[in-house]
Amino acid sequence: MRYVSTRGAAPVLDFEETMLTGLARDGGLYVPESWPSLSAETIAGFAGQSYEAVAEAVMRPFIGDAFGEQEFRDILARAYANFGHVARCPLAQIDVNDWVLELHHGPTLAFKDVAMQLIGQLFEAALTRRGQRVTIVGATSGDTGSAAIEAFRGLDAVDVFILYPHGRVSEVQRRQMTTPSEANVHALAVEGDFDDCQALVKAMFNDFAFRDEVGLAAVNSINWARVLAQSVYFFTAAVALGAPARKVSFSVPTGNFGDVFAGYVAKRLGLPVDRLIVATNENDILHRTLRTGSYTRTGVTPTISPSMDIQVSSNFERLLFELYDREGAAVAGLMEELSSKGAFTLSQGAREQLAEEFDSARANEAETSATIARIRRETGQVLDPHTAVGVKAAGDVRGDRATPMITLATAHPAKFPDAVEAACGVRPALPPRMADLYEREERLTVVPNDLGAIESLIRKARAT
Ligand SMILES: *Cc1c(COP(=O)(O)O)cnc(C)c1O
Repeated sequence: MRYVSTRGAAPVLDFEETMLTGLARDGGLYVPESWPSLSAETIAGFAGQSYEAVAEAVMRPFIGDAFGEQEFRDILARAYANFGHVARCPLAQIDVNDWVLELHHGPTLAFKDVAMQLIGQLFEAALTRRGQRVTIVGATSGDTGSAAIEAFRGLDAVDVFILYPHGRVSEVQRRQMTTPSEANVHALAVEGDFDDCQALVKAMFNDFAFRDEVGLAAVNSINWARVLAQSVYFFTAAVALGAPARKVSFSVPTGNFGDVFAGYVAKRLGLPVDRLIVATNENDILHRTLRTGSYTRTGVTPTISPSMDIQVSSNFERLLFELYDREGAAVAGLMEELSSKGAFTLSQGAREQLAEEFDSARANEAETSATIARIRRETGQVLDPHTAVGVKAAGDVRGDRATPMITLATAHPAKFPDAVEAACGVRPALPPRMADLYEREERLTVVPNDLGAIESLIRKARAT
């Protein structure tokens, strides 16, 4: 499989190069040159298979010969060995025909582990074979940074530096970044806010001398390998509830459009999906786009589901590429408009196709809290605020009751204990395997909001 840029003007790459490159040189995102398809028999055969076995079958057509059969099997085994549930991504029932897909059994208790744990192993294998080392730099408002540190800790071919806003992430999030003791991972507390952290990372990537010197790489949510890894759990969940013989619906709490695009990929591969719901919090650019056809940037409102407090949904560009018949120039034009005017309007054809593929709904803060309280009352289960946004949206769009509705549970409630306790009176406890998180020793470096200072720190701290 080869990969092309959504803006049509970057080199065509294979899977491994696409994964190691991240953002295309023309500013676009890499997508597969064509969509493979899985037959109904193949999908039916996933019933009763392990998560890893389904992952192997779903991802194989996209990987080509980048990794050998046994090599990829070993990589998958290592990636998911640290999950706290043998099913990796189990389902839990919350109503007569409604379910949550628990994606939070990985080491940092959020769904990003599902893809990031795999990326860590894929990077290590590819770089070791090439005899290369890279330096991964990322900015985080919480979840992505800890998932990256957990995925890359102790690996030989990678140094990781995560920039987070000093004093502005939750204690659980900070401790998850600062307590791993391996020498190749570094938590940098920047004296600034999240935007400052992002601007610093961007500036490092634009400092080509530095970029080449340290072999800078990124694993943010636009990395194709992450999206692909996320499409796997749509298959395992759907098959557990009767697919492909019957259709299922998904509600996906999203901000960057990454996870819900992974659902679209599953559908393109042949999974019979009835409704695919884009669930947003008050930062509802995606919901507004589906309703009005106009993609308009506004300010970010802080919410109790902070991992979805996003102004620009970077992965939406991948869908635009499909909506505009894979014409890179058209996508480049829209993106140009977005950066100059802060908005663009979809063509009539694109809008109709969008409405055919997706539904959407939004949950405000009160509705999110009320959903946590209701599910706790009705089932005894405690949802995190991101998941609650999805459950609320599922209820709004719920059509046919006979079709199973699956909401993606993107975080464990213990990751957001204050909001959960305020909503339902229960303070969720950390799972036993990380109960000592609050006692572990922290290791972090406070750094000024200064590019030169951070670059020189990275030069010195990385292994050579
Ligand atoms: C990152 C994140 C999301 C949103 O993911 P997208 O890539 O924007 O779809 C939702 N919930 C949690 C807990 C997250 O960490």
